[in-house]
Amino acid sequence: MVSKVTALAPSSTANLGPGFDVFGLAVNAFYDEITLTKKKTFGISIVTDDNIPTNPEKNTAGLVIKNMIKKFKIKDGIEIKIKKNVPAGFGMGSSAASAAAAAFAFDRLYNLKLDGNSLVEFAGMGEKASAGSIHYDNVAASVLGGFVIVRTNPLDIIRIDPPSNLRMCIAVPKLQVPKKKTKVSRGVIPKKISLQDSITNLSNATSIVAGFMNKDPELIGKSVKDVIVEPARQHMIPGFAKVKENALKAGAFGVTISGAGPSVIAFSKSSADLKKISMAMKRGFKSAKTDCQTIICKPSIGASIKR
Ligand code: ADP
Repeated sequence: MVSKVTALAPSSTANLGPGFDVFGLAVNAFYDEITLTKKKTFGISIVTDDNIPTNPEKNTAGLVIKNMIKKFKIKDGIEIKIKKNVPAGFGMGSSAASAAAAAFAFDRLYNLKLDGNSLVEFAGMGEKASAGSIHYDNVAASVLGGFVIVRTNPLDIIRIDPPSNLRMCIAVPKLQVPKKKTKVSRGVIPKKISLQDSITNLSNATSIVAGFMNKDPELIGKSVKDVIVEPARQHMIPGFAKVKENALKAGAFGVTISGAGPSVIAFSKSSADLKKISMAMKRGFKSAKTDCQTIICKPSIGASIKR
């Protein structure tokens, strides 16, 4: 009988511009590692060296495990060991990576053999601990890997294999992020939008899907244009306009905010000068007196068991 399982789950970028709350892409920039160990005494304990809540209700992995214990009527106690690598609160799906790895590890620990949709559903419950509401774009990407489209009521995740030559340059600014950043950055989004803006975003969102279907990084990148959420949020990222302009000038196909920010993501392909794009983004942040970490990455295949 298995008494201990370790799972890894990747960072992810949500929205990809016009696909707000619908699109997600798993990226191999960072991985969270979760080890679940069965214990004799009932209850959940969280062990971590990282600066995240250790109350299971407030931790995305803790909340996932709590829900799964209840659903599958588990009588064991469970220790959750969390090793974070995805920086928390930077729009890289950090809270989701922990939730995704937790759901994936629990499935293996109890040999549940849940399907992808069910794993995503459980992982999504964890997001309530960080964002205050359940949303599936990051967790779906982190669990399943590749590019995902989230359909809800009922939950139905469509997964598409990204082009093998798709590459991303991500700039993670060194900023103090507010504690409930996702909640704060949701608050600035307009409640009503014009028909014209909705048409523009719909056209770009559908083109992104076509880009993934046709394995065309240029179509994906060119379509990462959002006239609704990005204009409302960009003031929260110092130097955003310059970071974007610089990356486009350096050859990126498209640039947008990663998830709720403040990280910025540029889309490109393997044959491009990705170093040049990264350096251009760095200079953009520098113009606003902000340092950043840049990462050149590929799509990830999603959560896995560590052997
Ligand atoms: P992101 O998903 O981009 O990391 P969020 O703002 O949604 O950004 O999530 C980060 C917040 O979630 C932090 O305030 C952090 O304290 C909280 N949180 C709870 N559990 C975790 C976890 N296991 N990993 C990361 N952050 C967590």
